Amino acid sequence: MRKNIVAGNWKMNKNVIEAQQLMFQLLEYKKKNTTNCEVWIAPPAMYLMMAKDVFSHNEIGVLAQDMSEYESGAYTGEISADMLESIHATGTLIGHSERRQYHGETDSHCNVKVKLALDKGLTPIYCNGETLEQRKSGQHLEVVKYQIEVALFTLTAEEIKKVVIAYEPVWAIGTGETASPEQAQEIHKHIRTLIADKYGKDIADEISILYGGSVKPDNAKEIFSQPDIDGGLIGGAALKVEDFAKIIEGFNS
Ligand code: PEP
Repeated sequence: MRKNIVAGNWKMNKNVIEAQQLMFQLLEYKKKNTTNCEVWIAPPAMYLMMAKDVFSHNEIGVLAQDMSEYESGAYTGEISADMLESIHATGTLIGHSERRQYHGETDSHCNVKVKLALDKGLTPIYCNGETLEQRKSGQHLEVVKYQIEVALFTLTAEEIKKVVIAYEPVWAIGTGETASPEQAQEIHKHIRTLIADKYGKDIADEISILYGGSVKPDNAKEIFSQPDIDGGLIGGAALKVEDFAKIIEGFNS
């Protein structure tokens, strides 16, 4: 049975006091409420240790926003899979569109990172999705196919089962534009079919595929009700406990 997951990507937001405050608010929420999904957060790297301390009983999973493609060494500013493993992080985002756009990350880099993360027992959340131009020119299915094939199809069946995929159309990230539930479902189904064709239906059915792109309290429930959508990767709306909680509650019937 695949997991439902709501993961908050804090990006480069919040000073240390604000970050700690939001973590404690989330902890309190999690203690008081039963959720029908796993809840994970990806705070900035410098707050990962603090998050592990606050969520000391794994009430909320802790993710990095990115991870180096190298194992160790002279790579200033980077954090390694080994470092994340050593703090018992849940996993890491890989290939977020902002990493691709501003840091030149490619699907081949993502392929290396996904493997490194898996080798250390971390869950990679592999982010992919088309740009507005690609969607307008009708290339979205092809683009997503390429991204999935390059980044994931060198994995074994046992490995790919442990990957979480986040379909995030670039045109919907931080823009207030959301893919309609039907547009999102079309791509999620496409991704699951690609995996089924390569690894078999049983494996494809085990993989959680999250949607990301302007998910808000008022659209989460409808998006999450689609058969191939297993949760969300949430940016802006993960920065306020009230909004994030309402999104999590999108899984409550
Ligand atoms: C994201 O950054 O992964 C994201 C989906 O952002 P937002 O929810 O703000 O569109």
